[in-house]
Order: sequence, then structure tokens, then C-alpha cells
Amino acid sequence: MDFRESFRPMNRPNVLCVAGHDPSGGAGIHADIEAVAAQGAHALTLITALTVQDTTNVQRVQAVAPALLAQQAECLLDDCQVAAVKLGLLGDLRQIPLIVDWLRRLAAPVVVDPVLRAGGGAELLGRALVAALREQIFPLTTVLTPNAAEARRLTGEEALEAAGAALLECGVSNVLITGGDEPGDEVRDLWFRHGGGPVEFLSPRVPGRFHGTGCTLASALAARLALGEPTGPAIAGAREFVRQALLRAHRPGQGRQVPGRNRVGQGSP
Ligand code: PLP
Repeated sequence: MDFRESFRPMNRPNVLCVAGHDPSGGAGIHADIEAVAAQGAHALTLITALTVQDTTNVQRVQAVAPALLAQQAECLLDDCQVAAVKLGLLGDLRQIPLIVDWLRRLAAPVVVDPVLRAGGGAELLGRALVAALREQIFPLTTVLTPNAAEARRLTGEEALEAAGAALLECGVSNVLITGGDEPGDEVRDLWFRHGGGPVEFLSPRVPGRFHGTGCTLASALAARLALGEPTGPAIAGAREFVRQALLRAHRPGQGRQVPGRNRVGQGSP
């Protein structure tokens, strides 16, 4: 039977997740699939890099060959409509023109998590790749989700208000600077848009050391945009999803905890 005979309109929007693979299941593509599914959307995945890592730190990043990625994308995007894109870890510079081409062609909201360094400390992106991300991907970005350290490193600004403003000047439509890596009992995130002051989101900090919070937030946000939520409520919903997942975290190894993304909504933690 031709599969097109049984084609039904898209009842779950597709979110294209372009990210790295973390074998420990905390960050990267695992996080994306679980977070997108938990919002009621479907994850399509293009894997930019395989990594060697455990729940403590990343030891190696091996980029996927651009020719293979290009073939995967051509095959997939001929078949599936994309309602939003989430971009995480990049493999290498040769992938940039491909990703730029997909983002231009898809004309869907794009959430970019600028993964520069692992929570365990390993550098994940060299200087040239950071520059390419800023110059070529940021102008195509709907929401950029750096944590405070990433926002400072991307702009050279110490104050988060100045960093947010500088990132908007790179052509990003919205910036959400997350404060999970800052001290304090409350997590303070700042949402910057063109033509308005920053909007603050506050929530009580869930104690513990976690792996994959940034990927979880960005993917949940992309899924919510794919489902048609406006940006403000989508940010609030994605933040609350992360908090609920952290309250249900587990510890698969000896290092950091992994958010319980597929246990959110299944009773109290
Ligand atoms: N590995 C991959 C594939 C990632 O995408 C990321 C972050 O997005 C990390 C590792 C680092 O995650 P964390 O900052 O939680 O250590």
C-alpha cells in the first residue's frame, strides 16, 4: 500500500531537533525527544555529533559528516512538515551552511540553545564555531536560550541586561537568558524582545546538580511554539515543565541527575 493512502493531516506538530547525542541520556537528543513528546508534539531528529560522555562530563565530540546530514535532511524534509526547529550542539563548521539552508527553507520558529560548554566544564564549541553561530545562525533565530555564563561569553558583557541587549543586536528576535547557573534560592530568567524592556520570570530553585536542563527547556519551548502558543506563555510553560522534571529527577550514574521529563504529569513527585 502506498503510505500516502493512509495519510492524515498532522495531528501532532513536528519539531525538528538538530542536536548532539549524549549516551548518558541526560542532554542532547534524548532530552529533546522526551521534552517534545511531553508537550504533545513529535520530534524529528538530525544528529550533529556523537559524544563520549557520562553523567559527569563530556570527553569527546565527534561531528557527523555533513554529506550524511544533508542526505538525512533531504529525505526527511521531503516527507515531513516542520512546525518548529530546536538547534542545540553543533558538530563542526562544515555543518553551518547546511543548517542555514534548512532554517531559511523551513520558515518555522527556531529555538537555539547555544551550547558552548558542558555543565561538567568541557568546552564544546571552538572560537570559529561560536563566531559562525553568532554571524550566520543568530539572524535566523526566533528565541535564543543562553544561560547566564553563555550570554556573558557570547557578548563580553558582564551585566545580563547589557548582554541581552547585545544579543538582540545580533539579529535574534527574542533572547531568554536563564539563571539556573547563577547563585540564589530563586532562578531568575530574563526575556528580551525588540521594542520593550526585559520581562523577568522567577521560580524557586530545585536543589541538586542536573544534566540537560538547557536542552529540556529549549525543546519544550520549541514544541510549545509548534503548538501555536505565543512566546510569553510558551516560555512560562516550558520553564514550569523543566521545574516539574527536576522535581522528578533520577540519577542514572555517579554524577549529575537527569530530569524526569517523562514522569511530568504522572502524579506528585
Ligand atoms: N552533550 C550534548 C549532546 C549536549 O547537547 C549538551 C548540552 O546541551 C551537553 C552535553 C551538556 O549538557 P550539560 O550542560 O547539562 O552538561
